[in-house]
Amino acid sequence: MKAFAYERARTPAEAAAAVARDPNAKFIAGGTNLLDLMKLEIETPRRLVDVNGLKLDQIAPTKDGGLRIGALVRNTDLAADKRVRKDYGVLSRALLAGASGQLRNKATTAGNLLQRTRCPYFYDTNMPCNKRTPGAGCSAIGGFTRSHAVLGTSEACIATHPSDMAVAMRVLDAGVETVRPDGATRTIPIAEFHRLPGNTPHLETALAPGELITAVTLPKPVGGRHAYHKVRDRASYAFALVSVATVLHEDGSGRVALGGVAHKPWRVEAAESALPRGAKAVAETLLAGAKTTPQNAFKLTLAERALGAAMAEARS
Ligand SMILES: Cc1cc2nc3c(=O)[nH]c(=O)nc-3n(C[C@H](O)[C@H](O)[C@H](O)COP(=O)(O)OP(=O)(O)OC[C@H]3O[C@@H](n4cnc5c(N)ncnc54)[C@H](O)[C@@H]3O)c2cc1C
Ligand code: SF4
Repeated sequence: MKAFAYERARTPAEAAAAVARDPNAKFIAGGTNLLDLMKLEIETPRRLVDVNGLKLDQIAPTKDGGLRIGALVRNTDLAADKRVRKDYGVLSRALLAGASGQLRNKATTAGNLLQRTRCPYFYDTNMPCNKRTPGAGCSAIGGFTRSHAVLGTSEACIATHPSDMAVAMRVLDAGVETVRPDGATRTIPIAEFHRLPGNTPHLETALAPGELITAVTLPKPVGGRHAYHKVRDRASYAFALVSVATVLHEDGSGRVALGGVAHKPWRVEAAESALPRGAKAVAETLLAGAKTTPQNAFKLTLAERALGAAMAEARS
């Protein structure tokens, strides 16, 4: 690991300004992703700005009947929160399907949204990777692609986003609250937060340099029955091959988003009108335009079946 300076910010705006001032600076929250990447020298920040003391660890009701989740709320606390379990069950279930108890105790809401891909070539510094080194090339294209994306890919990158929590937040229409280095705040709809790779796969989100996430907001509860179905290579402690977050209502209408298939949580609102007709009908629109390799083509069938399982789970 390369040497780095460490500082604690006193306010969110001060933290944002500190990172904006130094192009080699990064925020650190739980450290469960960033420190791993620093040990491998995939990320080499010269300065870490610790945001743990910024009092961003509260979950509070909003004026419009929703919830405001502080950026520093730990995944364990969010999954266990009574309001989340009652009204946003899909989020609680998605969180509990991720990582391990120990990791969830450290992992934060903002850090989880910003975790980097688990593409094996991204982690192997001997192999070219456009996300790690822009312009270097993509080792996955033409390489081993079993875990890679089938939707929204580009000639530059076919990596998936690994977060389970983000898939649930997409189905709930969350908003990401931020503060910029000049103190200005904004809310980015989760649908626009993660980017598709295009020809700049190293730019993963809508955040500007130094922009700090302060909270994630959930609109008022949508009701319905919630389910999160995750398919992975072993029962725990593994990232999704495919996952499904769904909310279903009595009349058959609802919402659905997929994880493990794209560079961002994958939701196509137009597909949801087919929910009363079953998983196959939904999958037809949701997976339209998919581009597979011989190794990851199974994800299309898996997604349709996982969708069917999640819908059955939500109705049970
Ligand atoms: C073995 C293992 C298994 C895992 N399995 C899963 C899984 O199955 N599903 C899943 O979803 N996740 C899984 N994870 C990922 C884990 O959930 C993430 O590592 C964690 O959520 C990251 O949160 P953190 O607070 O530790 O982030 P950090 O490591 O502290 O930070 C991650 C990134 O976010 C940035 N950041 C942090 N806070 C802010 C902020 N407020 N504003 C702006 N930028 C910020 C940091 O600069 C850094 O770039 C796993 C991790 C490990 C190590
Ligand atoms: S898929 Fe993306 S992350 Fe993986 S090697 Fe290619 S450019 Fe890198």
